[in-house]
Amino acid sequence: MFLKALEIYGFKSFPDKTRLTFERGLTAVVGPNGSGKSNISDAMRWVLGEQSTKSLRSSKMQDVIFGGTQQRGAMGFAQVSLVIDNQEGELAGIQAPEVTVTRKLYRSGESEYRINGAMVRLKDIHEMFMDTGLGKDGYSIIGQGRIAEIVAAKSDERREIFEEAAGIAKYRYKKTEAERKLARAEENLTRLQDIVDEIE
Ligand code: ATP
Repeated sequence: MFLKALEIYGFKSFPDKTRLTFERGLTAVVGPNGSGKSNISDAMRWVLGEQSTKSLRSSKMQDVIFGGTQQRGAMGFAQVSLVIDNQEGELAGIQAPEVTVTRKLYRSGESEYRINGAMVRLKDIHEMFMDTGLGKDGYSIIGQGRIAEIVAAKSDERREIFEEAAGIAKYRYKKTEAERKLARAEENLTRLQDIVDEIE
C-alpha cells in the first residue's frame, strides 16, 4: 500500500485544484517559510479524519477553508482526496486496487466523507485504516514534537502505538464494540423481563 496522490481544493492556502503525485521512494517538499508545506501534511491528516482543530493549527474547523487573499475571494468549501494504491488488499473490507478517500467541508459546517465516491461515515474511514498505521493517529505521520510526546507518554498510551503497529488494534476495537453491543442487549433483556413481569 502506498500513497499515489493527494488532491487539494479550497483547503488552507490551496484555492486552486492541486494534485500532488507521489512516486515510490522518497518525496521531499521544499519551499520558503509560510509557502504551505505544513498545509500539505495538514490536508493529509484532515482527509484521514482529523477532528482536532488545535493539531490543524486552526481555532475552528471552518478555518481550514481557503479564507481569501487581496487578489481572490474566500471559498465556500474545502475538499481533499487521498488516492491509495491497494493492490495488495491491505485496506480492510475494500477489494478495489485503488482507493480514494475524500473529505469535504462547507462553511455552513456540513461535511461529508467518501470512499471511492460512495458516501460513508467517519467511523468507516477510521475502521478502514485500522492497523495499517495510516489513520490520523497512525505512526505513518510523525508531526513535530510527536517523538518527544511518545517518549513522555504514559505506558498505556505507548502501548496503543505498539498495538497499532503489531496489527492488533482492530481486534481490541472489535472487542470493545462487541462488549458495548452485549451490554445493550442485556439492558434490553432486563427491560423485556420487566414487561413480562408486568403482564403476568
Ligand atoms: P514554515 O516553513 O514556516 O513552517 P510552511 O511552508 O509549512 O511554513 P504553512 O504553515 O503550511 O507554511 O502555511 C502557512 C500559510 O498558509 C500562511 O501564509 C497562511 O496565511 C496560509 N493559510 C493557512 N490557512 C489558510 C486559509 N484558511 N486560507 C488562506 N490561507 C491560509
